[in-house]
Amino acid sequence: MVEVGEPGQLAALEELAAGWEREGTGAEEIVGWISERFGTEALLACSFGAEDCALVDMIARVAPRIGIFYLDTGLLFEETLATRDRLQERYGVRPVAFRPRLTVAEQAEAHGEALWAREPDQCCHMRKVLPLEAALAGRLCWITGLRRDQAPTRRNTPLIQWDAAHRLVKCNPLARWTAEDVWTYIRNRNVPYNPMHDRGFPSIGCWPCTRAVAAGEDPRAGRWAGTGKTECGLHLPAGAQPEAVR
Ligand code: SF4
Repeated sequence: MVEVGEPGQLAALEELAAGWEREGTGAEEIVGWISERFGTEALLACSFGAEDCALVDMIARVAPRIGIFYLDTGLLFEETLATRDRLQERYGVRPVAFRPRLTVAEQAEAHGEALWAREPDQCCHMRKVLPLEAALAGRLCWITGLRRDQAPTRRNTPLIQWDAAHRLVKCNPLARWTAEDVWTYIRNRNVPYNPMHDRGFPSIGCWPCTRAVAAGEDPRAGRWAGTGKTECGLHLPAGAQPEAVR
């Protein structure tokens, strides 16, 4: 049994992750284990991308006690919100919205128009990173749809780990899945998904920072294109926040 609290947590989780790797434990089994171990203290961070839609389906079937939340930046595509609604309708789930302290208009008033174009790290910090901290406060475990082959920054994603930045367990049940695995799951189970994926958007975030990618382009090339930024900051290790927000 994994005990809560560092440093015992760290060693126990590394051992657990190694065992799951060795035994080829599947994503459903991992989600079921999380539900058994953490119950309602575990939450799925859902961005309504393809991976998260698959996880909502999995949770609804094998671990309905696990809650679901999303970060409503005020800048999500209409299609993303419509995907949320379709998942709600299909599975009876109620994803909880966590929002930034400032509305988009208030942010423009305080920091100038289109902060995302000038200081995307600061914008992500206010509209995503701080709301994530609020969502995870006091919880024991969060689940993400991170996959190793999504980006070089995600290559070493473990199946389960201690999240020192937020001080809780972080579980990435799809870490070993390929994009094809995700789409096979979605097709086989007829899972609702964001139709923008069919229009050249493999990775979908806020509308000002997301564009379609061309065939053969890196799937995440459409996020913060031309800025050098590759991650919103939700998955950075403790102490690795960009300089602009330290
Ligand atoms: S993705 Fe863009 S618009 Fe959304 S919070 Fe980050 S910088 Fe701001």
